[in-house]
Amino acid sequence: MIRSRLAPTPSGYLHLGNALNFLLTWLLVRRRGGVLKLRIDDADASRSRPEFVADIFRQLEWLGLTWDEGPTGPDDFAARHSQLQRLELYRALLTQLGESGRLFFCTCSRRQINQATVNGLYPGTCRNRRSLPTVPHAIRIQVPPEWSVSLPVATTGPLTTTGPQPASPTGDFILWRRDGLPAYQLASLADDLADRINLVVRGRDLLASSAAQLYLAGQLGAAGQGFWTATFCHHPLIAAPDGRKLSKSDQDLSLAAMREHGATPTRIYREVAAWLGLDPGPIGSLGELRAAFNASPAAISCASPAPAGRPDLQSRKA
Ligand SMILES: [Zn+2]
Repeated sequence: MIRSRLAPTPSGYLHLGNALNFLLTWLLVRRRGGVLKLRIDDADASRSRPEFVADIFRQLEWLGLTWDEGPTGPDDFAARHSQLQRLELYRALLTQLGESGRLFFCTCSRRQINQATVNGLYPGTCRNRRSLPTVPHAIRIQVPPEWSVSLPVATTGPLTTTGPQPASPTGDFILWRRDGLPAYQLASLADDLADRINLVVRGRDLLASSAAQLYLAGQLGAAGQGFWTATFCHHPLIAAPDGRKLSKSDQDLSLAAMREHGATPTRIYREVAAWLGLDPGPIGSLGELRAAFNASPAAISCASPAPAGRPDLQSRKA
């Protein structure tokens, strides 16, 4: 049984790129009769805002997207589904990861890291620090510089890309932030494991995140294996009209702004169809997009990561 999730971050208004990701995820799950969960990734409390949470529900409803698990609306989300209510789950994963012997305390400020780095990655200043500092600190995990994983990259319709992309996590990355909250990589993996997610659909801009999370899952032995056997769809991104990557700061391309300017869901469905190499002309509804997608199994290709990249297997070999 396919299990996937829509995992928006409530740090801005949803834009067209989010809509394409959600629709693609929905199409893939519905085609296989799977289970779709809505999970709002709000662990970064400093950037999360209630109006962005409300926007997520508003735009999902507008797009006609349904989900099988997760919050039914903003109030239900606040009452029962915020990541801040699952801190115990994240702490438990941190403890489990601690058994790898690779975690260390980091007291570096962003400025100190920027000054010491040569390649933009964490320079390893605190790598050997195992005693609990008395000052605010983050918790990082050691990643061998030579570790890498080949990740499948999905191709859609006319947007051809090359085969698997090598991706390395961003040096010794953060698991627990100095403000006392779990980092994105840890919280996202903990939720995916708890929810038994086996289909991850995300943009190619998150290849490094997938690599980091696979690295963590590889430290968990059997408990992390489900993530390694999951199917990953790293899909191409749509660009802003001037070629830039769309971001949440592009207010004009937010779904809310597009709606104000008269965009209809049908226009979004047609954008998705064109993006997937399907003929957008006859698409007038979500049902028609779904039928066209189901009739074109080659519209997108997804795969699992090469198992040879699993860090526990690599170290066993060494
Ligand atoms: Zn440090």
